[in-house]
Amino acid sequence: MRKPIVAGNWKMNNTIRESVALAQGVRELVGSLTSVDVVVCPTYVSLHAVAEAVKGSNIAVGAQDAYVKDSGAYTGEISPRMILDAGAAWTIIGHSERRHIIGETDALLNEKCRFALDCGLKVMFCIGELLEERKAGKMQDVLRRQVEEGLKGLPAALLENLVIAYEPVWAIGTGETATPEQAEEAHVFTREVLAGMFGRDAAQAMRIQYGGSVKPDNAAELFSKENVDGFLVGGASLKADSFAAIVKAAC
Ligand code: PEP
Repeated sequence: MRKPIVAGNWKMNNTIRESVALAQGVRELVGSLTSVDVVVCPTYVSLHAVAEAVKGSNIAVGAQDAYVKDSGAYTGEISPRMILDAGAAWTIIGHSERRHIIGETDALLNEKCRFALDCGLKVMFCIGELLEERKAGKMQDVLRRQVEEGLKGLPAALLENLVIAYEPVWAIGTGETATPEQAEEAHVFTREVLAGMFGRDAAQAMRIQYGGSVKPDNAAELFSKENVDGFLVGGASLKADSFAAIVKAAC
């Protein structure tokens, strides 16, 4: 039985004060639920304050990225050690905005994923095809490449700290959601690829979130699919009540 996991990716939104207020709101609504893992991912500058705001609750904190070194001359970057020190347990790696706006490659994301896990962070690793790739019938090729390149070399012992987020790029922030059937098809395929890499038991145990315009009114239907193990939520995670409704749909 896979425990559902719902995470809010706040992206580049909210000051420290606004982040704390949002975290407190989420805590009030879902902070005592134990049947679902809940993670909120503010900007780096708000990590510590948000971690303090949710301390003692069921809510964990995550960063939105993590660099591949511990410390040194890497201007603008933040290391897993610093993220852990700020009170976060998770990081997102490979979000489509980092792949397609910042230009991060599968090779770099593999390094980031391995380093973050080695350092003791838990990772939500994002994959997903562009609209033109889906239209060209390449969805499976893209997902296979992103999973095989992005996760190669991961030791089996660290897999329990890894969650995959399937986020079709055409559904992120667009208001267009994958149908439950489209999400299930992609999740089943991703699990097959994971089984090829890590074995069937490990693949069955791994959680695969769906992300892409998840809202309170579509979450329950998506979650009804066997291989949808929770959500990575962008826009709808910026309001405590809509995020909490999505969390409750995954209970
Ligand atoms: C995301 O950024 O991970 C995301 C899924 O965004 P949204 O929910 O706004 O589509």
